[in-house]
Amino acid sequence: MKDFLDTSDLTPQLVTDLLDRAERFLPLTTIADQLGAPLRGKHLVTLFSEASTRTRTSFELAAKRLGMKVVNIVVGMSSLAKGETLRDTILTLDAMMPDVVVVRHAVAGVPHFMARFSKAHFINAGDGEHEHPTQALLDAFTLRRHFGRLEGLEVAILGDICHSRVARSNVRLLAMMGAHVRLGGPRTLRAPGIEHFANGWSGTVQVSASLREALTNADAVMVLRIQQERLDGAFFPSLGEYFAHFGLTSERLAWAKPNALVLHPGPINREVEIASEVADGAQSVIQKQVTHGVAVRMALLEWLVHQEATPREPALRQTHGQSESGHQNAPGGGTRAATTPTYAVSVTERGQPAHGL
Ligand code: ASP
Ligand code: ASP
Repeated sequence: MKDFLDTSDLTPQLVTDLLDRAERFLPLTTIADQLGAPLRGKHLVTLFSEASTRTRTSFELAAKRLGMKVVNIVVGMSSLAKGETLRDTILTLDAMMPDVVVVRHAVAGVPHFMARFSKAHFINAGDGEHEHPTQALLDAFTLRRHFGRLEGLEVAILGDICHSRVARSNVRLLAMMGAHVRLGGPRTLRAPGIEHFANGWSGTVQVSASLREALTNADAVMVLRIQQERLDGAFFPSLGEYFAHFGLTSERLAWAKPNALVLHPGPINREVEIASEVADGAQSVIQKQVTHGVAVRMALLEWLVHQEATPREPALRQTHGQSESGHQNAPGGGTRAATTPTYAVSVTERGQPAHGL
């Protein structure tokens, strides 16, 4: 595999292998001494066009613990802001021969688009509302470490499903691994068609009629951040109202199994989607998720770079001005990829994503 862009790039066997590898990288503090620096001499570039502290830092620490050198590019400070096309940016970067490029972009499909023009391994660190596949891997790692398995687990995912790439990646990966997912939250924040992500896998995905139904007997509860930066309509009256009806409080958590795990991808909005007493409570593994993220990213980086059997040729190099055939827009012309496994990116003549950076 040249790139890791979507959870649909994975198979149950590959997930198991990657999670097993990630076990080797814990505890983080002593691992570098034990392993040496397996990726010494390799270079990782992070290219982020959206605010992020934890994911970028997590990749950087993972890469450095493996001995890689890291260069961080913030898109607002790069030539993209001077009008350069995405394609030209990636061709320029590629000419400097990085080994791995980690991309986060506000538009779904941009990491996929860029990967096609580069020999580097690309990793999707979050594209619009589409996917955040390393988050799903680290969540699976956290669940598997606690329960010893993923198969048969009952996992409630609560909140802003509609705008959440974390939800989409987790639903796919958990269903692939045989878990049963129930989605809860306001009707206005549902993602139509998401239950079909389970088709062909042993797990199931169900949209629950109420928060209580989603939580009842759950082994684990994943709470999603209200994506305020993506709420372009009136999805609920106010944040206070949201908390009153859908926030995860201790009383509501009691509907789940005793000692059900509480996960959140971060950053958390206290007293919006989750009460502080739950976020900081004994059932919360939110900080562990962050630690696990580094181990999982170490495993992924080492695996991607070391499977040299895969020829690292870009799938396609287009001549300038050629149109982007093969890309599909999401239904309705937006960037949502809720119902379709293809990613959505529309590229104008100049190669700029139509929805802006
Ligand atoms: N959405 C951000 C990320 O995943 C959260 C953060 O910056 O902490 O990196
Ligand atoms: N950090 C996650 C993301 O970037 C979740 C969030 O931001 O709500 O998607």
